[in-house]
Amino acid sequence: MGIDIPTNDPFSREYDEARQKFLEAARTCAARVRHWPHPMAGPRGEALSTDSAWVGAEDASKVLVVISATHGVEGFAGSGPQVDLLRGPVPAALPRDTALLLLHAVNPHGFAWWRRVTEENVDLNRNWVDFGQPLPTNPGYEEMREHYSPASLDAATLARHEAAIEAYRTSQGVHAERVARSTGQYTDPLGIFYGGTGPTWARRTSESILAEHLGRAKTVAVVDMHTGLGPYGYGEPICNHAPGGARVQRARRWWGLSVTEPLLGTSSSQEKTGLTEFGYERALAHADIAFVALEYGTFGPPHGEHALRDDAWLWRHGDPMSREAQPIRQALRDFFYPPREDWREMVLWRARQIYRQALVGLAGGEAR
Ligand SMILES: [Zn+2]
Repeated sequence: MGIDIPTNDPFSREYDEARQKFLEAARTCAARVRHWPHPMAGPRGEALSTDSAWVGAEDASKVLVVISATHGVEGFAGSGPQVDLLRGPVPAALPRDTALLLLHAVNPHGFAWWRRVTEENVDLNRNWVDFGQPLPTNPGYEEMREHYSPASLDAATLARHEAAIEAYRTSQGVHAERVARSTGQYTDPLGIFYGGTGPTWARRTSESILAEHLGRAKTVAVVDMHTGLGPYGYGEPICNHAPGGARVQRARRWWGLSVTEPLLGTSSSQEKTGLTEFGYERALAHADIAFVALEYGTFGPPHGEHALRDDAWLWRHGDPMSREAQPIRQALRDFFYPPREDWREMVLWRARQIYRQALVGLAGGEAR
């Protein structure tokens, strides 16, 4: 016998339901809402938009920013805590000098279509490079690209490519293989972890939102919601600011001992190029900021690798609207948004803790 799902569930089953819940919650706490319409539609013809909500005094100098759906489909996990934050006690209890800025669905196309990437097949979290400079290179990816994006998903083909990947791990090491796969690449527009050749719609929209709202901010805490790496249900605050610098020290003061650093090898993630935080560092150079990716673990590497491989095949060689697409899309969604109550409870609990710590930190306190 089951129990009824509460009707006030902050999580959603589709992008447009998530959007509706977010806008409704924002209205209820008198947020200043702006819509940033996307030029394309979702799979059921639904309108796509990034939406921003500012809660608090117009001239607040301290701001907690929460971002969802940098990686499209991960927006299911990121949107729920944003809605929960708006519905909870925080908006009414904000100090006079402090505001919330929530960016809902910064990659709405990926969210609605259950993809990690944008409509340009770009990993938004590799897209924040300075395109005026020579682009990062990834020799390991060049060597392995045919194995990461096979032209066919039949068992014999997959076995051959998996064996090549395993051989690379044996000869070069597990870390080198992860760098080759997922640090970022700028040469293969239909491949995985592609950073693009210019700023995507999603990046440009985020930059517009930052320019509109944070030009005068003095202290900014940013939490970018992610899923897919680390132990099941655990939310890891990953910090990619320069090791030893003022920003990472600030992140440690605010979020304490849980903070990990890929560049020091303490994280479930490794070094990456074109990360969102690098763009925020540039756009918010006038402010004291600390940025963490709040990364929730799901089912472990092979499942995610296979889900992303199959998704890349589908959009390169298949038809995303076909019957054969359905299990591929569902597997990707289930990997990045496990259909389980316990996982969602862990996501919500940890998000509340991370947001509370950020607000304590903005008020001058330290993590506890
Ligand atoms: Zn992510």
